[in-house]
Amino acid sequence: MQKILIANRGEIALRIQRACREMGIPTVAVHSTADAEAMHVRLADESVCIGPPAARESYLNAAALLSAATITGADAVHPGYGFLSENADFAEMVEAHGLTFIGPSPEHIRAMGDKIAAKAAMAAFGVPVVPGSEGAVDDVATARAVATRTGYPVLVKAAAGGGGRGMKVARDPEGLEDAWRIARAEAKAAFGSDAVYLERYLDRPRHIELQVLADGQGGVVHFGERDCSIQRRHQKLLEEAGSPAISPAERDALGARATAALRRFGYRNAGTLEFLYQDGAFAFIEMNTRLQVEHPVTEMVCGVDLVSEQIRIAAGQALGYGQADIGFTGHAIECRITAEDPQDFQPAPGRVSAYHPPGGPGVRVDSALYSGCEVPPFYDSMVGKLIVHAPTRAAAINRLRRALDEFVVVGIPTTLPLHRRIVDDPTFQAGQCTIHWLERFVGADAPD
Ligand code: ADP
Repeated sequence: MQKILIANRGEIALRIQRACREMGIPTVAVHSTADAEAMHVRLADESVCIGPPAARESYLNAAALLSAATITGADAVHPGYGFLSENADFAEMVEAHGLTFIGPSPEHIRAMGDKIAAKAAMAAFGVPVVPGSEGAVDDVATARAVATRTGYPVLVKAAAGGGGRGMKVARDPEGLEDAWRIARAEAKAAFGSDAVYLERYLDRPRHIELQVLADGQGGVVHFGERDCSIQRRHQKLLEEAGSPAISPAERDALGARATAALRRFGYRNAGTLEFLYQDGAFAFIEMNTRLQVEHPVTEMVCGVDLVSEQIRIAAGQALGYGQADIGFTGHAIECRITAEDPQDFQPAPGRVSAYHPPGGPGVRVDSALYSGCEVPPFYDSMVGKLIVHAPTRAAAINRLRRALDEFVVVGIPTTLPLHRRIVDDPTFQAGQCTIHWLERFVGADAPD
């Protein structure tokens, strides 16, 4: 690979740039006019302005991205996460231009992008899935029949869903029709498809996900689980590796099943299988065919650079190691820091007048903030990630509290104060949080 265009912004663009620099591969940064002064542009080898602030005219503009790749002579594109990272048409266009897409094949992205098809495929490969409808539920009568069979409460979910949108709970038969209609309308507005399906709504699961890498040449390994149960509105705020609830034997069993499934699927590059875990059982909900926001916790406990592995695989190299070569050392926790009011979660973009990230042993900060930078209002409100690593979970929690206390961001409100409250909470410290815990902790009404 001679030169990689990074089709993203913010901390993940920097993260990819860093991996490329260590591998000796030059990169091209792209930016909207709103991001001309952004850190990922300032540190870039080369940069191209791809359009106005609105994401659909810049970071989601496939034609502008491909032109930028062509004029700079890039031969590969890393999509990061979000934006076009799970857009099979974009991956196809990249390949049609003779460039390498650093990710799975368009076919695999497409297959997992439809969550109904993804569940069916995984079930066929012997992976347990959350019980629910067999396929799309296109009318209320079918919804009623499925809900009666699986039992209430049920969750109506968008087949093309992502980011926690297009999901509605029906607690009883009376609420089902409204939930079905609202989920369909939300799905249509957010994803352009009103296909929805039904799932049993679990009352106290954990969100457990498994990181995998596959080289497309028969090599498939997993890097253990992440526990992402600390969520608000089905969106993750804090993630850990490993899970305080999963034993090494459970990890091995899940990993063996998942890697066998992906080998049969013929998957290539990085991926994450997401499960709900309740009463000792895992049930698959979806697969993300890209790098995840929370990938650093896995990197810390496994001592792996997942981005450089993605690049190596995309360049056609075999993994060169097997499952027995992957070990787990200590515990890692990540806090997602967003430019939001920590009370009402309203996005609060603006100018950062002072910025001081924490440091010291076992502390990693992935952020594109700097003193004087502007957080534009046009994009996701996440402005950084604080990751800590320590020999035990208890030590990681102490380290996290210390690092959170050192962290200074002045000028915009952030969720740092909320993270300080979470680390001091006894339920969190005991490792007992399920996916519904944070909603109660912040006192917010459940979104459904
Ligand atoms: P998205 O793609 O929008 O992120 P997911 O299917 O990954 O949607 O679900 C996001 C979150 O919603 C999960 O992590 C979990 O907290 C919650 N969720 C999803 N399915 C269920 C379910 N059947 N029961 C309870 N909670 C669920």
